[in-house]
Amino acid sequence: MIYIKNKEELKKMRNAGKAVAEVLSRLKEEAKEGVTTWELNEIAEGIASAKSFKAAFKGYADFPASVCFALNEEVVHGIPSKKTVLKNGDILGMDFGAYLDGYYGDSAITVAVGKISPLAEKLLKVTETSLYKGIDKATTSNRIFDISEQIQTYVETNGFSLVKTFVGHGIGKSLHEDPQVPNFVPKSSNGRGVKLKAGMVIAIEPMVNVGTSDVKILDDGWTAVTSDGTLSAHFEHTVAISDNGPEVLTEIIH
Ligand code: MG
Ligand code: MG
Repeated sequence: MIYIKNKEELKKMRNAGKAVAEVLSRLKEEAKEGVTTWELNEIAEGIASAKSFKAAFKGYADFPASVCFALNEEVVHGIPSKKTVLKNGDILGMDFGAYLDGYYGDSAITVAVGKISPLAEKLLKVTETSLYKGIDKATTSNRIFDISEQIQTYVETNGFSLVKTFVGHGIGKSLHEDPQVPNFVPKSSNGRGVKLKAGMVIAIEPMVNVGTSDVKILDDGWTAVTSDGTLSAHFEHTVAISDNGPEVLTEIIH
């Protein structure tokens, strides 16, 4: 069931989105050589408690932390650790959700630690650009798979592959609502998917790999990695669809 949000709900979702952006903006500054993902998670929790919102992922399906990390070949859902020390040349995905006043926001960025390889740089650029290309299609004249197709075409034209195991989602009173927002056009699909309507809010989140699109889950039961060990990047925004076009609720304001 797809929930259409009214003005009052959208106002609350803007606030949840701002909370997410504030955390990611700070984490982006702090993700430097020598810092652990444990410390970054602590920073996120500190902001959440100071600003009185809830870190949405902590305890969600028993996930043990507030930020989902993804270092290098990790795709999503990595657990922070005192042993994971950032090194020059790493790329680090950070995915954060906030729950505020009954509504969720969800966003992810992947950042460079120090100087990264040209390939890693291209991966980050292509993944982030694919997200914005997808967002451009989030209008009332389109359907879900118009977003999916735009992301897929751009990423594959650039020689990378899209993860198919995990997809974007509707968001609101629940972290994950209908409809699903795949980053590829499903083979079995007839037509263009669900029609987009004003008041729908979706999280668009391409996960892009240098090599195979296949992922495997590590023994911790959470961390997804590329099955060929190549690099992966992830960018995500929570986006409200309106008659005036897409509105990104989790944009980091500098
Ligand atoms: Mg997320
Ligand atoms: Mg999400």
